[in-house]
Amino acid sequence: MNTYDVVVIGGGPAGLTAALYLVRAGVNTALVEKLSPGGQVLMTEEIENYPGFPKPVKGYELVDKFVEHLNNYELSRHSDEVRSITAADGGYDIKVGDEVLRAKAVVLCSGARYKRVGTPGEDLYTGRGVSYCALCDGNFFRGKTVAVIGGGNSALEESLYLARLVDKLHLIHRRDEFRGAKCYQDKCVTNPKISILRSTVVEEIKGDPFKGVTSVALKNVKNGGKSELAVDGVFVFVGFEPVCPFVPEGLGLDPAGFIVTDCEMRTNLPGIFAAGDVRSKNCRQVATAVGDGATAATAAYAYLEELNA
Ligand SMILES: Cc1cc2nc3c(=O)[nH]c(=O)nc-3n(C[C@H](O)[C@H](O)[C@H](O)COP(=O)(O)OP(=O)(O)OC[C@H]3O[C@@H](n4cnc5c(N)ncnc54)[C@H](O)[C@@H]3O)c2cc1C
Repeated sequence: MNTYDVVVIGGGPAGLTAALYLVRAGVNTALVEKLSPGGQVLMTEEIENYPGFPKPVKGYELVDKFVEHLNNYELSRHSDEVRSITAADGGYDIKVGDEVLRAKAVVLCSGARYKRVGTPGEDLYTGRGVSYCALCDGNFFRGKTVAVIGGGNSALEESLYLARLVDKLHLIHRRDEFRGAKCYQDKCVTNPKISILRSTVVEEIKGDPFKGVTSVALKNVKNGGKSELAVDGVFVFVGFEPVCPFVPEGLGLDPAGFIVTDCEMRTNLPGIFAAGDVRSKNCRQVATAVGDGATAATAAYAYLEELNA
């Protein structure tokens, strides 16, 4: 069995930063990432609000910089999925694929992902017209008509991105008011390609086994009126959920399932830290994920020092 002082789970901005701080402090560290490093940043076309990049930076370019920086140091990397974490011998056993890693401390940086809306047809047509990533799939709908479901920042931001590609976009929101930032709302309202349907829910995503999505069945929640819109695709942006099905027993979570930490990124379990979007907090951004990662690594280092005292 491979043993480490710290295992970092997730290679997004939080995990890459935590790993960087740990290896620079000379801590025997492993980083486990099930996909390519970068996390959600790889799904982001351009980032305009990460300090130090006064011009918009492509998501993949920012990830390249993070990885290049980390490559300056020795680090054990594991490209597989963490399945479980169990307490063992004063530390933790982390099941990674078919392998088990033992660590004195663990930093959980497994991020978050878009939620499903739970409407009939969503599962059936996911990958055949239903998408959760405009950057990944928007190009398939060039010159076509799509629906976007949601009313927060993501729905508005992604609608603006998609409107550059598609011919027509119907932005469908179940409430009267959008939750997203006013600047994005204003841009959506004035965009000639975007039509906004408020107080409206998608009752069913309809399609054809060969063509994929063909339409959405709608209901106005105020007057009960029903209608159907012909669309070629449906993009769902209805909030985030944490990605942490593998957490150890007894770990404190908030009602939405995000990991609760103190300001040092310590969880309620000794030696378990959490950083980035997977933890319970308000601002989920690259800058905050990086800050969390640095803080968690520093706290994990202090924890190891205490163990060795
Ligand atoms: C479309 C979009 C646009 C965005 N735009 C911006 C923006 O303009 N500015 C900004 O600051 N932020 C933006 N964000 C948010 C930003 O990308 C996130 O806040 C940030 O990536 C969070 O970093 P993280 O490391 O906590 O998690 P993530 O980036 O989610 O990374 C988590 C990593 O953990 C890995 N993982 C998960 N489970 C396991 C497992 N069991 N085993 C191994 N690995 C696992 C995942 O594969 C992933 O690589 C955007 C996000 C999206 C989706």
